[in-house]
Amino acid sequence: MRLLVLVSVLLGSLYALDVRLTSTQIANGKSALLLLSPKDGKEYTKVKIASQSFPLLVHPEDEKSFFTLLPMSYYEKPSHKKLQLFYEKDGLQHSQEIALDVVQGEYKKEVLEVESSKVTLSDADKKRTAKEYAEAMKIYKTITPKSYIKEAFKAPLDSFITSEFGKARVYNGLLKGYHSGTDFRAEVGVPIIASNDGVVVLAQERFYAGGSIVIDHGYGIYTTYYHLSKFLVQKGDVVKKSQVIALSGKSGRVTGPHLHFGVRVFGVQVDPLQFITLINQNLFKGIQ
Ligand SMILES: [Zn+2]
Repeated sequence: MRLLVLVSVLLGSLYALDVRLTSTQIANGKSALLLLSPKDGKEYTKVKIASQSFPLLVHPEDEKSFFTLLPMSYYEKPSHKKLQLFYEKDGLQHSQEIALDVVQGEYKKEVLEVESSKVTLSDADKKRTAKEYAEAMKIYKTITPKSYIKEAFKAPLDSFITSEFGKARVYNGLLKGYHSGTDFRAEVGVPIIASNDGVVVLAQERFYAGGSIVIDHGYGIYTTYYHLSKFLVQKGDVVKKSQVIALSGKSGRVTGPHLHFGVRVFGVQVDPLQFITLINQNLFKGIQ
């Protein structure tokens, strides 16, 4: 406890309290938030980890403050990193560093039985999944330079969670990656809502995800809704938080009906519920 107080006092004096990182440890698959409230004539210009730049985004409740998101890939290995902040003050360039550790998240294994044609793919299905993957990645890597979000995020469905993000998945005895979102229990036909304001950038049937909707919330943040049975919006539609966008279903690679909900940030797939909590607790003091 005493050490913690000492560390925070030191950090506070080093960064003059205008920089706040929600955590200096990030597990693979999770996100952190960096908040910048420029003081004393400072102007932040860049945030980097090694050669990767992170965009400076305008704080939704304070236009003089900025934030950026630090999404860690599930495949990121434990390591020590340095977060570099560049700023200008009195016409001079400065930089400061914050140590950041990537740690191993605690994820379990899950064994599933699905249709064998969804595990060992035909040549035609291989072609189809490669095309669908490329189309989706093109969307996720696009950073819309404005934000549609005015309020906190909401879960897309009020239900039990049947499978968390990050479980290593064994399909029909074969290890096939990890669970890339959060599954909610839902029979076929349950209304699914948009987690926040945004624009529908994908609404189509896909091989693994079945009936899929992707919403662009701006600033490189996307939410995804899979295995749907019916679309109530189409590509290009502007949607509001809590608007019903679809009905749940059991399309694609599933063991039964449910909703799969995912979040992509700057192209990286992250734990959706941890992301929502992080954003809601740190960016929105007002309306939840
Ligand atoms: Zn899922």
